[in-house]
Amino acid sequence: MAATIGISSLEDIREGLSSGDLSSQSLVRVCLENLQLLEPSFNAITSTDPGRCLNLAKAADARLQQGERGPMLGIPIVLKDNLHWTGLPVSNGSKITAGYVAHYDATVVQRLLEAGAVPIAKANMDEFAMGSSGEYSAFGPTRNPWDLSRVPGGSSSGSIVSVAAGYAPFALGSDTGGSVRLPAGFCNVTALRPTYGVLSRYGVTAMASSLDQVGPAARTAAGVAAGLSVMTGRDPKDSTSVDLPRAEQLANLKPALLKGLRVGLPMEYFGGGLDPAVRGIVERAVRTLEQEGASVLEISLPHTSYAIDTYYLICTSEVSSNMSRFDGVRYGARQSADTLDGMLSGTREQGFGAEVKRRILLGAFCLSKGYYDALYLKALKARTLITKDFTDAFEKVDVIATPVSPNVAFPIGDKTLDPMAMYLADAYTVTTPLAALPCLSMPGGFSNGLPVGVQLIGPSLSDVHLLEVVHAFQQLTDHHLQTPPHLNRGVNHGH
Ligand code: GLN
Repeated sequence: MAATIGISSLEDIREGLSSGDLSSQSLVRVCLENLQLLEPSFNAITSTDPGRCLNLAKAADARLQQGERGPMLGIPIVLKDNLHWTGLPVSNGSKITAGYVAHYDATVVQRLLEAGAVPIAKANMDEFAMGSSGEYSAFGPTRNPWDLSRVPGGSSSGSIVSVAAGYAPFALGSDTGGSVRLPAGFCNVTALRPTYGVLSRYGVTAMASSLDQVGPAARTAAGVAAGLSVMTGRDPKDSTSVDLPRAEQLANLKPALLKGLRVGLPMEYFGGGLDPAVRGIVERAVRTLEQEGASVLEISLPHTSYAIDTYYLICTSEVSSNMSRFDGVRYGARQSADTLDGMLSGTREQGFGAEVKRRILLGAFCLSKGYYDALYLKALKARTLITKDFTDAFEKVDVIATPVSPNVAFPIGDKTLDPMAMYLADAYTVTTPLAALPCLSMPGGFSNGLPVGVQLIGPSLSDVHLLEVVHAFQQLTDHHLQTPPHLNRGVNHGH
């Protein structure tokens, strides 16, 4: 029982709930059991409230019994720990927000709750979503279910591992520069970074406000779409939010017609530094689309090589501003001292981890008098050029295919002493947030038993079409159905 549910897709679970073969309560119980059994290995979860989950599941079952049906009704979900869910801590993977408990729901959480989804846990993450590996959390590193000695990718490490490990069929992460796509690629999960503005950020801890987006993750594109379907729609509480065209197609996603689809391969994403095995898998995925009638075109996004510098200048600048609110005055952990200055600096010194401090310093430097024009302003100009690259490309193609990351998941500890190496893991994921475009990571195959993600990028607000393309791809392939081998053993052991 546990094993089947653990590896089932959201669509199968939804069918089971609809037909009455499954109840949300039994499902949630199994999810919590899986979690308890596997957490010592993965460390993907920061907090959970089983009593409350079971009550929510009971309420969902009552709605189901009354004949109500819905894409997320009764479905267990996991929430990244930078999302507010009333009554539970919002740790942000940091010591500085210790003791802070949410007293309201993020809009995305509220909409999922209204749709009858059942949050079962909050997920571990790189501190304040700064990181690419899942190692920069005050709660310790999360581990990759495919190989426990490797990172799962970050910063939405726990959310993605929760899906990969079968804690829940759906999870929310956030993506500022790749944080749902990178771990999804490393863990064989499908995850979307929507067009900037498609999901409300009300109740999501801000990292870099011009880049942050909430990112849904599931085993399949249809699962991602089901969750997205109940969260879209303008939110007056987030002035950047917009309506998503064709959102009504999400609840029952149909595969896109691949015949005639124009797929672009940007040569800048296939240069030096790319693992040949990863390249081979991306090319094979594209050939699968081609065999169904898609046409493939080599394109150029000429300013790609500026993306990492541009992203890390803009990101750190915004981080330095957003992190200033964590000072021990209103909430979180406080270090007492004799003077106000002593309290503020002691709190921040003790509360923040090394990567957050590094970014605050870098960002404050970028914004300082004398450097603002040379660094921050120049980065804004480069951002415009990177955006224009994509605008030009989308005159010729409908979607762009790239690797998610140059390599497969790396060993834990490999890059923690080398921040530049860590930043370079994002080489293929930071361009799209700069251009505010929708993009996703889908399972593309395996290299030596480790998952490889393929990234698809679309024009602004083409989120539904992107998911339809992946849905079509997933009818033709079975990579997304593969689960970590030792995970099956672990689950079967317990039951
Ligand atoms: N790895 C990138 C960074 O550290 C992206 C993080 C994110 O998307 N939250 O900034």
